[in-house]
Amino acid sequence: MAGGGGGDLLLLLHVLLLAAVMSARAPTAHAWGKEGHYMVCKIAEGFLTEEAATAVKELLPGWAGGDLAETCSWADTERFRYRWSSPLHFADTPGDCQFNYARDCHNTNGEKDMCVVGAINNYTSALKDSSSPYDPTESLMFLAHFVGDVHQPLHCGHVKDLGGNTIIVHWYRRKSNLHHVWDVNVIEKAMKDFYNDDVATMIKAIKMNITDEWSNEEKQWETCRSRTKTCADKYAEESAELACKAYEGVEQESTLGDDYFFEALPVVQKRIAQGGVRLAAILNGIFGGNRRIQSS
Ligand SMILES: [Zn+2]
Repeated sequence: MAGGGGGDLLLLLHVLLLAAVMSARAPTAHAWGKEGHYMVCKIAEGFLTEEAATAVKELLPGWAGGDLAETCSWADTERFRYRWSSPLHFADTPGDCQFNYARDCHNTNGEKDMCVVGAINNYTSALKDSSSPYDPTESLMFLAHFVGDVHQPLHCGHVKDLGGNTIIVHWYRRKSNLHHVWDVNVIEKAMKDFYNDDVATMIKAIKMNITDEWSNEEKQWETCRSRTKTCADKYAEESAELACKAYEGVEQESTLGDDYFFEALPVVQKRIAQGGVRLAAILNGIFGGNRRIQSS
């Protein structure tokens, strides 16, 4: 029937348009991709206390539909509107595999605390202080995003190559750069090859690892002895170390394939897990409560 066929065609067009819109998303220079941040926040949701979950829900903007994870890439979309926020997504080092707050946490003008670690500390303080001039909804969305970023090793990469952004590589047959490999390519390939191209399936697998393979470490991940600050400097230190390994054997125009992928994937999955567990711990510290909601 002509009518029915027209309807199908419209539906098809609609689907194609949607697909085009989704794939038009430009690669971002300084962030886990959208999936990485989404996974960190989804994992965090499962570790929140009831009090923290309620407080977070109240702070979320209407467009989030009550889901923290929906807001976790917001900070990337605002990087150009809020230019000052751009250096807050990373903390590059001179390349000695170490993070040193006094040395490394500044923007290109030398302003102190303007790096991902400073941002996590500042937005945590802002959310704890009801008289803070910062908008608490934005503080929450920045915090959730930056805790993800600090766990991406190449966000604590080397200054001279902008955290791997200027190292052009071939990811299998496609042109990419080392930073983008860690933000997006590894996750994308894992989703395609192992998780049915479905982010929920990948999240489920990572959560199973947390309760199984990593269950002994998980408590240590969230332990933070600093009473006034977060332990974000420790997370940056870990990333700086992992970054050095990520650079190993990689040069301009290197081709990265299976060998690199299978080395990187377990690191990526663990960093996403740690990011989620620690984001929850920070939010629980801010909003209180000790009874965790059912982790599912
Ligand atoms: Zn970012």
